[in-house]
Amino acid sequence: MRFRTPSSQWRRKCLCPNRLCGKKLLCYASLAVVVTAGLACQREYPLAMDGSARFDTWLLGRAQDGGVPHLGCVRECCRVARREGRVEYPCSLGVRDRLTGALLLIEATPAVESQVAMLHTLAEVDPRDRVPVDGVLLTHAHIGHYAGLMQFGKEVAATDELPIFCTPKMADFIRAHAPWSGLVTGGHVDLQEIVMGTDGAAVFEPVEGLRVEAIQVPHRDEYSDTVAFRLHGPAKTLLWVPDIDQWSRNEGMIERLLDGVDVAYVDGTFYDEQEVGRCADEIPHPFMRDTLTTLGDLAKAHPGRIQFIHLNHTNPALSDLKLVAEIGERGFDVPEQGRWVGL
Ligand SMILES: [Zn+2]
Ligand SMILES: [Zn+2]
Ligand SMILES: [Zn+2]
Repeated sequence: MRFRTPSSQWRRKCLCPNRLCGKKLLCYASLAVVVTAGLACQREYPLAMDGSARFDTWLLGRAQDGGVPHLGCVRECCRVARREGRVEYPCSLGVRDRLTGALLLIEATPAVESQVAMLHTLAEVDPRDRVPVDGVLLTHAHIGHYAGLMQFGKEVAATDELPIFCTPKMADFIRAHAPWSGLVTGGHVDLQEIVMGTDGAAVFEPVEGLRVEAIQVPHRDEYSDTVAFRLHGPAKTLLWVPDIDQWSRNEGMIERLLDGVDVAYVDGTFYDEQEVGRCADEIPHPFMRDTLTTLGDLAKAHPGRIQFIHLNHTNPALSDLKLVAEIGERGFDVPEQGRWVGL
């Protein structure tokens, strides 16, 4: 099933929160044009009259794909974490629709079971048997972002046509490679493809009322392309961009991603080049130190708007509280696991 944009019709299966109906109802809605030129992103949904949120979001992890402790790392960062039993999950966001109780997951990480359990606890939902969530949104085909999908298959949760929202390239990758291909042939997932418009963006509604923009971003794209998500609730807009190449790679990209955003979870993989011990040119991620400069004025004007996620196990901001405080003084944030934002 494919989403087409702009201005095409789309359909999706009913996302009843507990699937009590058990039916595959088809819902229809029209898609809106994503963005017009440059920065002119328009909200499709008016702010709630009282400005209250309809959607809860929780940060279910803030680390890079390998988490902390990181397999194979014998440096202090992970030695100490192992000794103290400290665990940092790969970055993921949980979403709850207060109206229907529907739950969404952004990214399916190798720690998906723990993170869905965390989401259930935070959302105070009853056990959901084989419907742990009602949909999953994937950014790209690097293991920290999709490998957890295998847990939805026959050997584990054995979900029934769980909607997976991803680009056609990502969907092709899943169909072509075991063990993920078994999810499709076994009917455990329903790949719902987000087809980009000529402007490299698309809009879809994984649950009715939550308008999500997928925007293509430059990244190491060996297996699939990569997208960022902008989630528009009635109260706030949230940006999710855990993996991206340097902000300057595409002209106007950073402005487009951040336009109208209240909270931006952005790529903070490495603090600086000293941390990776390689030439800065070989590292595609924007260094946190550079982002602190590039977005310094914005952060100062809107403290807390820019929040760093996808932190590598070596990133000092994961454990150096003095550094985190300094980052905070500059208007940025390194959010803790479990951070809530209402949309
Ligand atoms: Zn990653
Ligand atoms: Zn380490
Ligand atoms: Zn990646």
